[in-house]
Parts: sequence; structure tokens; C-alpha cells
Amino acid sequence: MSDSFKTAIVIGAGIVGVSTAIWLQRSGCKVTLIDREGVAAGTSYGNAGLLACSAIIPVTTPDLIFKIPEMLFDPNQPLFMRWSYFPRIISWLFKFLSKANLKDMNQITADLHRLMYDSVDQHKQLANGTGAEDYIKSNQYIHGYKDKEAFSKDKLSWEARRKVGLPDDELDGDALAKHDPSLEGKFGFAVRSHSDGHVTDPGEYIKALASHFEDEGGKIFIEEVEDIPVKNGRAIGVKTTRGQLIEASHVIIASGAWSGKLAKKLGLNVPLETERGYHLEFVNPNIELKSPVMVSAGKFGMNSMNGRLRCAGIVELGGLDAPPSRAPFELLKRQVLTLFPELKYDEIREWMGHRPSTPDSLPLIGAFEDIPNVWAGFGHQHLGLTGGPKTGRWLAQLISGEKLNEDLSAYKPNRF
Ligand SMILES: Cc1cc2nc3c(=O)[nH]c(=O)nc-3n(C[C@H](O)[C@H](O)[C@H](O)COP(=O)(O)OP(=O)(O)OC[C@H]3O[C@@H](n4cnc5c(N)ncnc54)[C@H](O)[C@@H]3O)c2cc1C
Repeated sequence: MSDSFKTAIVIGAGIVGVSTAIWLQRSGCKVTLIDREGVAAGTSYGNAGLLACSAIIPVTTPDLIFKIPEMLFDPNQPLFMRWSYFPRIISWLFKFLSKANLKDMNQITADLHRLMYDSVDQHKQLANGTGAEDYIKSNQYIHGYKDKEAFSKDKLSWEARRKVGLPDDELDGDALAKHDPSLEGKFGFAVRSHSDGHVTDPGEYIKALASHFEDEGGKIFIEEVEDIPVKNGRAIGVKTTRGQLIEASHVIIASGAWSGKLAKKLGLNVPLETERGYHLEFVNPNIELKSPVMVSAGKFGMNSMNGRLRCAGIVELGGLDAPPSRAPFELLKRQVLTLFPELKYDEIREWMGHRPSTPDSLPLIGAFEDIPNVWAGFGHQHLGLTGGPKTGRWLAQLISGEKLNEDLSAYKPNRF
């Protein structure tokens, strides 16, 4: 271990930050994890819990531009815009939409695949020996369609998945009912992906990982980081909003959708936006799914989690500060109860979170070009739970000076 690899501060205790902290600790580094709210308090708490190796097709498919008007103005579509925010997001939107072509779609798919394909295994290796192992399940993932015609509209995406080698099989309604009797009559056609998995409770899982990190000597501070002071081209640590300077030889920004502000203070302008997402949890439901389901028409995932049925999805463009909107909750509830009119439950819990999204749908992983001891681990958009452990592992390897047999140029922090 080199001298400059002794101490590290990870800003953000979501799945990316906790994974990074654990892998750094395992490489012999003294690590402090700082989060202004606590472990798994951000987006990592409320996601659908899918280790969605097959969800690597970016939102920017070539037909996106034609779909947008209907998606924006039909209240039954899963895309919402807070119009007061529109002027602030317009330049990001242009960059995002410029990727909606076949060439970029295929490239992004390949780059996401490289990070996501072995997610279940990466989670198992991360959790090994931590006590969090039981939260991880390897599983199949059902993509349900109204009928075969609806599926054929997604043909391009399935071709791209099959091109990178993701295994699946197609099921008609009867075969689907055989796979999971609770899905009888729900979809006329489905694709069953075989490479995916899920987590039975993302919040508790990440807390269990963090608790192991503390047991092994790691420190967790509940503080907000305000700045990353730099001297002679290197960060000296972090400054908190309470004026405290905590020194370290490396600083890792893993602050999800809030990372852009810290990066900007270091002179790196990242076009990072948030795609706000929503979940409803039906507590004590009378339905338990055998494996998670993507309801393709509504673009939301359903996952049975220890006594709750969590339904999560929706994209709302509206920034980091506005409170949750009502319409996405109402749409989700309407869609779930239309599909499962027999669903009974004790109560519904609501949640809104912030996906950290870049225009090219790829995260930032690696060192800042001008400040080589500051590292980025953010921007995982819809797939942070899936790709978080490998991101943390890659970062720990890079920071400890290990040679990586991976080409990470697609994720370079300075690429914009
Ligand atoms: C509805 C929905 C469903 C989803 N479903 C899935 C899914 O099934 N599978 C999947 O792989 N992904 C899913 N995602 C995406 C996934 O949840 C995110 O990509 C992932 O959680 C991002 O993790 P993170 O660690 O980067 O950020 P976060 O979990 O948001 O953590 C960032 C942390 O940084 C802290 N922080 C921010 N600024 C500061 C600061 N200045 N100082 C100190 N702390 C700070 C915050 O408090 C927060 O705890 C979903 C997202 C949504 C919204």
C-alpha cells in the first residue's frame, strides 16, 4: 500500500458510497463515510430493488422523439414535467435527446452491459461476510406485455439485449401463469430474463452493509459536505457545513443526484440532472410475486419485499428541490389496481426519489483529470443499485493503484 493511499473520505452513503467504502476498507484504507442524512437516506432507499442486468437499454431509443409529445401530454403516460423547471432543464434535454439514435443506443447499451452484467455476483461478493447476504436473490425478471403486438414495438430493445448475450425466453399467457400463478390473465405475452436478481429490502440491505463497515473500524459521520479544499492541485479533505475540515488522502464523490454541485466547486461542470421517480408500497398484500415484474405499458417495476409489494417507476423532470407531485402517485396506484383489482393491503406508503442522470445515460467513474485524488462515483440513473457494487470495487482498485483490466474511458468524469 502506497503512502498516499492511507485515508479516504466517501461523500454519500447510498449504494455507491457504501460499496466504495467497503471495498476501500478491504484494500487496507482507513475510510470515513459522510452523509448529511444517514445511511441509505437518498435514492438507494426507495428504488424497485431490481438487480436489473437486462435493463441496459437507455431511455434514449431512436423512437423517443416521436413518443415524447404523447408521453408528456397524456396523463396515463409515465413521463411528467414540472413546467416551472423546464427552462432550467432545456439544455440538458437537448444533449439527452441527441443520443436518441441507433448508434448511440447500441454503444450505451454495451457500456452499461459491461458495468451491469454480473451484478448479482458483484452484490454477493460485496456482501460476503457482512451479514447482508440474505437480502440478495438471483432471480428471473418478467417483462410483461399486453400482447405480442405490444412486445413487437420493443423489438429493437430486445435485439440489442440479445446482441450483448443476455439470456431470455418468451412466454405466452399460459406459460406465464405456469411460471407465476399470481400473473394469470395479467399479460398476454412476456419475456423472462434469466440474468437478473433482486434485493428484498434495499434500505435495510445497505444499512446492514454499512453496519459491517463500522464493525470493521470504518467511521460514519452525519454531516453535510460543503466543499473539497484543494492545495497545490490536490484535495486535502472535505469541509463540512459546520466548518470542520476533515483531512484525507483521497476524496470520493458518491452523492448521487447531488454530486453536480460538489463537482462544480472543483471546476468540473457535469450535466447532471435528476429524473425523479416514485414508489408505492402496498403493506401486507395478498399477492406475492414469484419474481419481479416490469409492467412494460406503465414502465414500472413490481417487487415483493418482506411483507410489502413495492411498485416503482415514473420519470418526472422537475429538479432536486420541489416536493413530490400528486399525479405520479395517482397514476401508479391506478395502474397497479387496474392490473391487480384483487389486490388487498393494509396501507399504502408513498416515496419519491432522485435518479442521478447524465445525457449519455452513463455514470462517472474515475479520477478528476485536474485533481487526481478526487474521484467520481455518481450518475447511475435508473441502474445505481445494479451497478453500485462494481463501481465501488473499480474505484477502490484504481485508488489503491491496482491495475484494472477494464476500459473505463466511457465513464470518464471529464468527458463532457
Ligand atoms: C423509483 C425508482 C426506482 C428505481 N429502481 C431501481 C432498480 O430497481 N434497480 C436499480 O439498479 N436502480 C434503481 N433506481 C436507481 C437507483 O436507486 C439509483 O441509481 C441509486 O440509488 C443511486 O445511488 P447513489 O448511491 O448514487 O445515490 P443515493 O442513494 O441518492 O445516495 C447519495 C447520498 O449522498 C448524500 N449527499 C448528497 N449530498 C451530500 C453532501 N453535500 N454531503 C453529504 N452527503 C450528501 C445524500 O444524503 C444521499 O444519501 C431507481 C430509482 C428510482 C427513483
